[in-house]
Amino acid sequence: MKEAMYYKKLDDNRVLCNLCPHNCNIKDGGKGVCRVRENISGVLYSLNYDRISAIAMDPIEKKPLYHFYPGSYILSAGSVGCNFKCSFCQNYSISQTDEAADEITPEDLVYTALSQKNNIGIAYTYNEPSIWYEFVYEASKLAREKGLKNVLVTNGFISEEPLKKLLPFIDALNIDVKAFTEKYYRDVCKGMLEPVKRTVMIASEKCHVEVTTLVVTDLNDSMDEIGQIAKWLSSINRDIPLHLSRYFPNYKLYNDPTPVNTLIAAKEEAEKYLNYVYIGNLWGYDSSTYCPNCKAAVVKRNDEISDNGISNGKCRFCGQKIYGRFNH
Ligand code: SF4
Repeated sequence: MKEAMYYKKLDDNRVLCNLCPHNCNIKDGGKGVCRVRENISGVLYSLNYDRISAIAMDPIEKKPLYHFYPGSYILSAGSVGCNFKCSFCQNYSISQTDEAADEITPEDLVYTALSQKNNIGIAYTYNEPSIWYEFVYEASKLAREKGLKNVLVTNGFISEEPLKKLLPFIDALNIDVKAFTEKYYRDVCKGMLEPVKRTVMIASEKCHVEVTTLVVTDLNDSMDEIGQIAKWLSSINRDIPLHLSRYFPNYKLYNDPTPVNTLIAAKEEAEKYLNYVYIGNLWGYDSSTYCPNCKAAVVKRNDEISDNGISNGKCRFCGQKIYGRFNH
């Protein structure tokens, strides 16, 4: 346990947590919505500070990040807890629990990352990293000092002040924009949309950002809603890659898997506004990156991944700048 950052002490041993927009007012002995911040005698503690639930070397494409050192591998780690309760959560066994996981220190994690071959850094993922804040903040600072990259895979539901304090140590984020209505965020995720939009805007000014939308059958799969997400993203930067991910039934949601035709139509709709749109979770579908100017395949994703079509961050064929960070 570690004393939490971003909270205020109130009367009667209550505390107000300001880490995320839930702003939980927690009585003595109680926990916040995320389950991993507990008020003990008027002091707020992070319960998951030194706890890890999963660790593995993953392809960077799995985060998904398609424009951040394509084909590389990254040590991926997660803890427990989440400040959302998405009814379709793929990782509910770690996100919706506060059960103790294995112990780890930030130094241990960075040491492990440094000892892996061909590893570009650390991805904080699997559960929501923003509510693992104290650990992620310390580990990312240390990792940066050692020359490692830091990646957040996040729901973006974090308050502005802690976000801005963390971003200087973060290289890339994949942020979920789960839908484009407050109703969806409230009913399906027990969250809010506006703070997530704010996170995308702030992060994209400082770091490499890609966005993921899980297209859920009958809930957020209208072309109007997909178009709204893409149009809004393009108002920030039409180069931000959008991953339209296929939904499969899980946890508490049993709608049918997203039809392939819906995903293809959604991609075409989003491409009216954005330069890079991908379909995720669909085996066998072309996920190469094409130059938005000359349409050449600049990053090929077949059995192997190659970004040989890029030179100094530009299309090798026409010189168009390609959004992201590449190996050439
Ligand atoms: S981080 Fe947890 S305790 Fe703090 S406001 Fe968010 S849900 Fe509540």
